[in-house]
Amino acid sequence: HALHRFGQEASRAVFGARRKIAAAFGVDYREIIFTGSATEANNLAIRGITKSIKYQVSSIKRPRIITTTIEHESVLETCRNLEKDGVEVVYIPVGKDGIVDPRKIKAALNERTILVCIMHANNEVGTIQPIFEISQIVRNFRNSKYISHPDPPVGGEGSRPVRQAQGGDSSAMPQNDTGIYPLLHTDAAQSFQYLDCRPEVLGVDLMTVSAHKIYGPKGIGALYVRKGVTLLPIITGSGQEFGLRSGTDNVPYIVGFAKAVEIANKMRKKEAIRVGKLRDYFWRQLKKAVPKLRVNGSLKSRLPNNINIYFPGENAHDFQIKLDLAGVAVSPGAACRSAVSKASYVVAEMGFPVERASGSLRFSLGRQTTKADIDWAIKSILKIVA
Ligand code: PLP
Repeated sequence: HALHRFGQEASRAVFGARRKIAAAFGVDYREIIFTGSATEANNLAIRGITKSIKYQVSSIKRPRIITTTIEHESVLETCRNLEKDGVEVVYIPVGKDGIVDPRKIKAALNERTILVCIMHANNEVGTIQPIFEISQIVRNFRNSKYISHPDPPVGGEGSRPVRQAQGGDSSAMPQNDTGIYPLLHTDAAQSFQYLDCRPEVLGVDLMTVSAHKIYGPKGIGALYVRKGVTLLPIITGSGQEFGLRSGTDNVPYIVGFAKAVEIANKMRKKEAIRVGKLRDYFWRQLKKAVPKLRVNGSLKSRLPNNINIYFPGENAHDFQIKLDLAGVAVSPGAACRSAVSKASYVVAEMGFPVERASGSLRFSLGRQTTKADIDWAIKSILKIVA
């Protein structure tokens, strides 16, 4: 941000990257906030919205957040943490198919609900949540609050007089909070590679993405914040990122992130089909050879690169090590979890017994995966099972 030539050169690079990412999402560049990870973006969304509530005129005393039991830990831990500060969190369970029923979300909405936080696609079982349907429910609830308000703000939602907070300045907060809430946030870290994640298509107010999920650098993420949404920073300082995330920009990572977005956007449709076909072939062959195998989560509403398989009678941890020795890299639960290998909480939260949660492995395909890799994986798995 320095005014000299070198500073301006870096600034231009960041600006260009921000515009590229914004264009890919079909949003304004000022709606993109760079963070150090998807974890931080999730924290900024959840904590930032919760913090901003305190500055509303008719402050909600016990704000409610609605989420699901199968979110990434960066959401679940943040919510658990906020519960200690008096926030009420409603954790909606998912069905055996790994998908949340939007009617349950509707039933959990109340006047105190500030945020609905539902991941787009699950990182372990790959199931895709009905985000657009949920967005309609949230929007209708929000609009019904407008109608019931005796003095609704002029111009409706699209022209609210509020922008994001600048540098934590609470004077930028709205003077009337009726109708603003609840907001909808989605964690699209897993889905952006293969699905259309434009906020307008999903109907979300906030959205998390991460570069390393799309072959960009590790250690850079972003939060989309719809214009008009009031958010307070969780990292304060010199006011970078429109006051929402202070700290010197990580220029090369930001530029790398934008390049990865550009490539992912170009390859999305073709790759989704190619990888999906390979994944289906993989599952068909395994199932044919070992009929007792079960897939965890819906096969229909699922990321094309993911298959999560229950191996009855096997321990996922041991199985993983044997596969690793054969040159096949898989994970029992979340790959980003520290080195601990625990039973999958996601499979358990889908309503399955502990044997299934600790006997399931997630297989992820990617840009480099070939048919030969899949055949090798099948051969290795069948050898171990035998
Ligand atoms: N959200 C989801 C759905 C994830 O799969 C992950 C995993 O890496 C994260 C958030 C955290 O991402 P990051 O490592 O960028 O913090």
